Amino acid sequence: MTERIGIVGAGIVGLAVARELAATRGAEVTVLEKEDGVAAHQTGHNSGVVHAGIYYPPGSLKARLCREGVALLKDYCAAHGLPYEEVGKLVVASTHAERAGLAALAERARANGVPGIAELDALGLREVEPHAVGVGAVHSPHTAICDFPAVARRLARDVEELGGSVRLAHPVRGVRERAGGVQVLAAGRIFTFDRLVVCGGLGTDAVAAMAGRPGEVRIVPFRGEYYALQGAAKELVRGLIYPVPDPRYPFLGVHLTRTVGGEVLVGPNAVLALAYEGYNWRKFGNIRQILGWPGTLRLARQHWRTGIKEVRGSLAKGAFVRAARRYVPELNAPDLVRAPGGVRAQAVARDGRLVDDFVVDVHGNVVLVRNAPSPAATSSLAIAKHVAGIVPALVR
Ligand SMILES: Cc1cc2nc3c(=O)[nH]c(=O)nc-3n(C[C@H](O)[C@H](O)[C@H](O)COP(=O)(O)OP(=O)(O)OC[C@H]3O[C@@H](n4cnc5c(N)ncnc54)[C@H](O)[C@@H]3O)c2cc1C
Repeated sequence: MTERIGIVGAGIVGLAVARELAATRGAEVTVLEKEDGVAAHQTGHNSGVVHAGIYYPPGSLKARLCREGVALLKDYCAAHGLPYEEVGKLVVASTHAERAGLAALAERARANGVPGIAELDALGLREVEPHAVGVGAVHSPHTAICDFPAVARRLARDVEELGGSVRLAHPVRGVRERAGGVQVLAAGRIFTFDRLVVCGGLGTDAVAAMAGRPGEVRIVPFRGEYYALQGAAKELVRGLIYPVPDPRYPFLGVHLTRTVGGEVLVGPNAVLALAYEGYNWRKFGNIRQILGWPGTLRLARQHWRTGIKEVRGSLAKGAFVRAARRYVPELNAPDLVRAPGGVRAQAVARDGRLVDDFVVDVHGNVVLVRNAPSPAATSSLAIAKHVAGIVPALVR
């Protein structure tokens, strides 16, 4: 008998998992998505960068699945005629104090097998990005950009061509485990599956709670706001210009990124949001869940200084202009216009620790992707193989 597997969430991770399970296990997959289209949340609101694997601790899931994911994604885009451009990335040290961090990053990138890593001086970085300044940089020539929503749409087609279905406007409202299976209530209908895989991003904890599996880490939403360069200013950036990240945070700091659509984005910052889909300050619908998790208050207590800085930056365009000018001093305030932002689903542990690595939990017949922040879009095809490998096999 064919195995029936339900997947919650038609973001890039859920769709990649569905495709993998249909293709390699011959499972009959059904993706349940609450929105009217695929890629409606994180997958459709990000920087579009195919990360090369520079930042992640060697041996971590992020390090391994990012490298594997890049190779799979590059081939997938080529096979389906989707945009994929190796525009290259510079991680720029703007002070001598940042040089140690830069050297550590180069070492980590090499340990992770990132190809072509070079350490550049102030002149070398100008050869790559003629309008950038800094005292040194790490250059990753194969870091790329792509169109993640287009990849998600193509994955959804694959799922359907493999006999599965992607059901939009199907918010999951109830989950009940039964001997040997799982019942799911969505759009007024009960679906019966052998296994359920939850890839709900910002909505994961709600579905986990429905399944009676609240978990030891919880999603805390961090809004990422952007500006875009306009007019001739776009010509000042060829590829991707990033700061040396603060090792205390999984976020990479405000950067300049060219997109496949020809835009140049400045951002994202990282502001604690008070709604899971808190795309702006006016949304604060999930205060009880977010502040009710002990980890959120512990995190706030440990990092309140950075939090205040990020809030100030969120309210004032000047912070983005300063961040951009630090790397490209020819930029001026009128060159930057507000652009749509995104909200990151970042897991936080009970003790307030920002969970750095990807987290996938198996509970009986329910598999929960509990933490899939950046670079999960880059890594999605490899995450799918990893998840498919741990969805319990069916014994009839
Ligand atoms: C600002 C920002 C910048 C980023 N930049 C990059 C980058 O440059 N490169 C990179 O690799 N990654 C980046 N990321 C991370 C990347 O976007 C995410 O890691 C990735 O998209 C996660 O995919 P997902 O499918 O898990 O989540 P999502 O895309 O959020 O999908 C989850 C889906 O589940 C659905 N859902 C939730 N609850 C329910 C329910 N009850 N019933 C039915 N459906 C439900 C949601 O509607 C949603 O469509 C960035 C993220 C952000 C926010």
